[in-house]
Order: sequence, then C-alpha cells, then structure tokens
Amino acid sequence: MSDVPESHPRYQSLRIRDRIVAGVDAGVTSLHGLIAHGRGEAYDYLLGEATGPWAARAIEATAAWLLRARHPVLSVNGNAAALVPEDLVSLSAATGAPLEVNIFHTSSDRERAIARHLQAHGAGEVLLPDGAAVLKGIDSNRRFVHPHGILMADAIFVPLEDGDRCQALRHLGRDVLTVDLNPLSRTARAATVTVVDNVARALPALLADVARLGSQPASTWGQIIGDFDNESALAQAEERMRSGERQ
Ligand code: ATP
Repeated sequence: MSDVPESHPRYQSLRIRDRIVAGVDAGVTSLHGLIAHGRGEAYDYLLGEATGPWAARAIEATAAWLLRARHPVLSVNGNAAALVPEDLVSLSAATGAPLEVNIFHTSSDRERAIARHLQAHGAGEVLLPDGAAVLKGIDSNRRFVHPHGILMADAIFVPLEDGDRCQALRHLGRDVLTVDLNPLSRTARAATVTVVDNVARALPALLADVARLGSQPASTWGQIIGDFDNESALAQAEERMRSGERQ
C-alpha cells in the first residue's frame, strides 16, 4: 500500500487505486483495467467522490431487481474483483445469484486468477466460461459464458460492463444492472439500471438495500422497479458533473 496520510484530500481515492494496483500485481486485473480505472476516477472527481441521490435510487432499484429475478447472475471482471471481492461474495450469498467470471481481454489464466481471488475472499463455486456456450451478438471475449450462468440469466449485475455486451444482452431481452461512473458511456445508456457511482462505494450500499428489502413483499420490489427511471438518474448525474458543485 502506498504511504498516503489520512489527511490527504484524495485519501479514499488513492486507497481504492492501491487496490487496483494490487489486482494487477496479483494477475487479477489487466493493464487495460488500470486505464479504465483512471477514466472512472476522472468522473468520480467530477461527482465529488460521493454517492449522489441518483445513485442511491439506482442502487435501491438494483436490489429490487436482483431480489425479483428468477435467475440473477453477478458478472465479475478483473477490476470489480480487485476492488470489491468480499462485497461480491456477500451479494452472491444474499441474493442466491452465482458469481461468473467474464472479462473483455482474453486470458484463461486471468479468469482462473479471478475465480481463486473470489474464493480466497469466501466464495464457493465460481462459474467460468466453458468455451462452448456463446452469447449471440458479441464479438469480444465477453461472448464466452457459462451455460448455467449468464447464458440463462434474466438479470445480470455487471459492474464496469462494456457497451457491446450490454447492448447485446439488452437485445436478447435481459435486464442489465450496471455500475459505471461515466453516465455518457454506451453501457450507462443501454443498461436497465445504471448506478453512476464508484463500485467501491456502491457495493456496500447495495448490500444494505438487499438486506433491508429482502424481508419486504414482492409487491414492494415491483413498486420500486416501476417507479425507477434510468434516463432521469443519468440526467441528474450529468447535471451534477456540469455544475461542478462539490459535496
Ligand atoms: P462503453 O463501452 O460502455 O462506452 P467505455 O469503453 O467508455 O464504455 P470501458 O473501458 O469498457 O469503458 O470501461 C471503463 C468504464 O468503467 C468507464 O466508463 C469508467 O468510467 C468505469 N469505471 C472505471 N472504474 C470504475 C469504478 N471504480 N467504479 C465505477 N465505474 C468505473
């Protein structure tokens, strides 16, 4: 870990950056993942590095969607695994959604490293692409999936998704629940629910909402889902970035 004093104004941001760097060192995160993280940091800076009301509503909607889904799956890439491994394992336990490794840059070594990393943080079985099951409409390595995971899922929670797969999943009629600090990305615009927030802040809040809503009736989940408006959440996040207002 870098030697950052807690009084540093970027302390939390630099601690999160340390986790990504450790992920690269452990063979879990790709070098490209560092650059993607840097883009995320820039947006986070503009958002005031805090969870805004647009994100809180999207987090609640994501919790309701995961609880209501018949076959939800949590799709994990190298950045998410490095940043929030325990939270992903807890979310899987709380929702019954399996963890499935799915990465953009082809590497079966890294897929296995991500699965081992999740298991070191308490995961049981972690699904990996089997090389045969393929999602239609995607050209990248993201098309390779597990036959009993993403291939059959009705709702896929996928922090840090890439736009191509998000659009392909939507065309296949799946619900995509994403976390993306960039409200302008193709993923953010195509997803069913977009949490414009740092995944490191969003996951603990999502776990709290799953715990709170888990005991509620399905009608409550349906109400939250029916009331949620992704376009308005994205517009609010964009407005915050434009205003330059710091929280
Ligand atoms: P798209 O294909 O959807 O248009 P992109 O090509 O801009 O997206 P990628 O390089 O696939 O983006 O992925 C990086 C995305 O992840 C960026 O939008 C970035 O803002 C976001 N991101 C990076 N780090 C985080 C983080 N810690 N929390 C949430 N989002 C993040």
